[in-house]
Amino acid sequence: MKAAMEKRFEGLGVSSGIAIGPAYVREAGALDVPDYRIKKKDLAAEEKRLTAAVILARRQIKRLQAQAQKDAVAGEMHFLFDAYLQMLEDSRLVRGARDLIAKNAMNAEAAVQQTLTGILHAFQAMDNAYISARIDDVRDVGNRIIRNLMREPLKPFSQAPDGAIVIADQLSPADASQLDPARIAGAATALGGAEGHAAIMARALGLPLVLGIPGLTGAVKPGSQVIVDGIHGTVVVNPTARTLGVYEQLKTDARKRAEKLGHMRAVPAVTRDDVTVTLAANVELPIEMDLVKRNGAAGIGLLRTEFLYMSRDDVPTEDEQYEILKDIVEAMEGKPVTIRTLDVGGEKPAQGLLGDLSEAAASALGLRGIRLSLAHKKGMADQMCAILRAANHGPVRILLPMVSTVSEVRQAREALKKAAQRLKRRKQKVPDPLPPLGVMIEVPAAALAADALAQVSDFFAIGSNDLTMYTLATDRTNEHVAHLYDSLHPAVLRLIQFATQAALRSRIPISLCGEMAGDPRYAPLLLGLGLRELSMVPVKIPVLKQRIREMDLSAATRRADAIMGHVDPGRIAALLDDFNGLA
Ligand code: PEP
Ligand code: MG
Repeated sequence: MKAAMEKRFEGLGVSSGIAIGPAYVREAGALDVPDYRIKKKDLAAEEKRLTAAVILARRQIKRLQAQAQKDAVAGEMHFLFDAYLQMLEDSRLVRGARDLIAKNAMNAEAAVQQTLTGILHAFQAMDNAYISARIDDVRDVGNRIIRNLMREPLKPFSQAPDGAIVIADQLSPADASQLDPARIAGAATALGGAEGHAAIMARALGLPLVLGIPGLTGAVKPGSQVIVDGIHGTVVVNPTARTLGVYEQLKTDARKRAEKLGHMRAVPAVTRDDVTVTLAANVELPIEMDLVKRNGAAGIGLLRTEFLYMSRDDVPTEDEQYEILKDIVEAMEGKPVTIRTLDVGGEKPAQGLLGDLSEAAASALGLRGIRLSLAHKKGMADQMCAILRAANHGPVRILLPMVSTVSEVRQAREALKKAAQRLKRRKQKVPDPLPPLGVMIEVPAAALAADALAQVSDFFAIGSNDLTMYTLATDRTNEHVAHLYDSLHPAVLRLIQFATQAALRSRIPISLCGEMAGDPRYAPLLLGLGLRELSMVPVKIPVLKQRIREMDLSAATRRADAIMGHVDPGRIAALLDDFNGLA
């Protein structure tokens, strides 16, 4: 048989490292569903399961329709939901799935998936603008039935072979929360930006990831061998023996470099002129705790709690949240843990929390982060109670995301006090004093009003990812504007400097926990601006420590001063590279 041709694609390398493995291709919008045969005696029950899922879907859509009635777009939405309801009658989709169960003894999820794929392919072949516009609607209805059938939390990639390279249109935060490095070796997608949460998770887990390759899913056959080179942003499909050899060598070199940094775990992060820097870890999921320990983090500087909600349709109870948080706090053995309240919305929708709210209402400029929490009093109270209970097991700080006004901090503090009272009424232990309450500086308004926020906050954490996005009006998840997303833009640097100085004047602690913190190239600038605490993906801590230990902070401060006198991002980058010896 003729060997398949080697194909190369160039994209955006957002999580470095080399991965080689068989492709697991997920078609655009498809769900990962279980696929098995049903015993003859159970076929009627399986058909009933399908019927129940369809009835539930009808109920869900009617609820959405009633909600839309209240919104301005009611007319159009009503029409759309009517069309959805029709698809849930005795349609080609439902009939097709029922037939596959009866005739081929397929499980209901796989039967719906197969029918759906057939319909979508037929629609795509029609080359008719009206029909093409309906493709997403049909997929939506089909996926809703499948999700209802699966009930249990979605498990993306559960069907991927061991060591697979995930090839997908895009990775949602929910997908990202299911990337298990024990099974998935790397990933490449058509869409996405470098500071999106898929990229952040991949970096946290050490999984090579390349984004921004249009048409990728159509160009890779399931099972074919793929190389993901996250260092250079290259994907090679069906590599020749020679190419494979080159990449195997690169992989070995990268592993040796990482091993060399192993001894950094035990040494302190101190500059040559004797200034101690705190290097903490950003954490999304309990699965990362092992990496936090292995890389010698001084604490958790950012726990993104929204990831605990991402892969489920319901909201975890206070007790469930408490158990997860308690385990994390205990695992840190007395080192501080900064727990951020939910930052749902924007690119991180969590269906269970949004409830009747549309994703548009919770957009990046909508009810995101603290705004959503303050609008959902019960959810916020449960989370505050869970955090307070976890704080009985070790030092905890509470961090509020997306703050833009002093009043939000005041309301959150009220909510925290009420949560403490609720626990006391239940005769549960509450830490005394209550944990420090801090704010993320991640929207320009917060940075510019940092002196006012410092009056009501116990600490600051600069979120340079969103601060860059909102300052430059550049979506962090959009590959089309990735070239404009630059944290070295003088506007971003001035906001970081302004907020840092406000914190230092008010004598409250300040850290930076955006992705900038994990890039050793930026360390002299950030420390030179006065920051002494950085929080990053755990695997980056050793290389940051190495950079700090060879740095002279007074020289870095002089260079930071010089950099702040410049307005051209290119010149700023050159001054930084020169200081880092890269020029
Ligand atoms: C940030 O915006 O820099 C940040 C740390 O928060 P997240 O990446 O979770 O939005
Ligand atoms: Mg943020």
